[in-house]
Amino acid sequence: MSRKMNALVKDKAQEGLILTQVNKPKPKHDEVLIKIHKTAICGTDVHIYNWNQWAQANIKPPLTIGHEYVGEIAELGENVKNLTIGQLVSGEGHIVCGHCRNCRSGNAQWCKDTKSVGVNRDGAFAEYLCIPATNVVPINPDIDEDVVSFFDAFGNATHTALMFDVVGEDVLITGAGPIGMMACAICVKNGARSVVVTDVNDYRLDICKKLKATATINITKEKIEDIYQDRHIVEGFDVGLEMSGSASALNSMISHMRNGGKIALLGIQDAKTPIDLNEVIFKGLTIQGIYGRKMYETWYKMSAMIEGGLDLSPIITHRFNYREYEKGFAAMNSKNSGKVILDWSK
Ligand code: NAD
Ligand code: ZN
Repeated sequence: MSRKMNALVKDKAQEGLILTQVNKPKPKHDEVLIKIHKTAICGTDVHIYNWNQWAQANIKPPLTIGHEYVGEIAELGENVKNLTIGQLVSGEGHIVCGHCRNCRSGNAQWCKDTKSVGVNRDGAFAEYLCIPATNVVPINPDIDEDVVSFFDAFGNATHTALMFDVVGEDVLITGAGPIGMMACAICVKNGARSVVVTDVNDYRLDICKKLKATATINITKEKIEDIYQDRHIVEGFDVGLEMSGSASALNSMISHMRNGGKIALLGIQDAKTPIDLNEVIFKGLTIQGIYGRKMYETWYKMSAMIEGGLDLSPIITHRFNYREYEKGFAAMNSKNSGKVILDWSK
């Protein structure tokens, strides 16, 4: 068997990626080799492609990037049990220590020594990926592989959207990127009274309309309070999901929460983003930071929601063969995109 494979590699500390041949990984005794079928491009991959400040500080070339994928098990390390060759799988991208306090208390998403696939070690934009068996997530083969390809991002959306009870609640989502779109679909599915999504981009808000958002607001043209009367929102929103990383979106969310409201923060803010803490205090707001997804409870919820009829297919806007990756990154950089999928099976 050839020990070389194609991979998308950040080979130098500069913009762009190259498609090149690298060594095919060999699974260690507790690892699994996955033959990649499809991958999806995440905002993090775009940061690495564009070589922005975050990427310059965190990425050490050469590195195969990518962490959103679906594939099948190709090889098992000698100690791996309960998994089989040919099984359809995705995988948790955070490789955790298993020993720290959070790992041992069932909160591995807060591990103090987490390493990320496609960021701190070689990733999934390749014909094969090697990860620890503990990170492998078996997938129901009845689920559309295109949707499974972005289960990693769906996990961020699910963990954030399910952080607080949304049943019968008015939910404000700021940011209609792929993750905001998924959170919109999840809150609708889970019985929110209303799901209001804001963005600056009509293309993305239109996808939220297809996902049955109660209202979408382009904040460059409309105000959030404009929909209060129509939607019978009296005291403000009960639950806020911040998914833009924008300081102004976060501040407007805080001011649109009802007293006692709950906010989950996923969007990554600039380090010194100012907020009015007195508003948080006097309104009695709860603010919860979100990182990653619960291992592995969020994965169960994700599969179960899809099996229960949650349809994420409107979020997929582009599909390319992996050799056309430049088109995929251009679509992501244009912002007129939802999820962009690269096919590695042909
Ligand atoms: P994205 O950049 O594609 O989407 C962000 C959206 O916010 C864009 O559509 C943008 O137009 C919109 N936006 C910008 N300014 C706005 C404003 N003032 N009001 C409303 N919307 C505004 O990102 P994504 O891939 O959907 O991810 C969402 C966020 O979550 C990003 O900040 C990402 O870095 C972050 N993230 C965090 C984690 C975590 O573990 N905490 C994991 C994945 C992603
Ligand atoms: Zn740990």
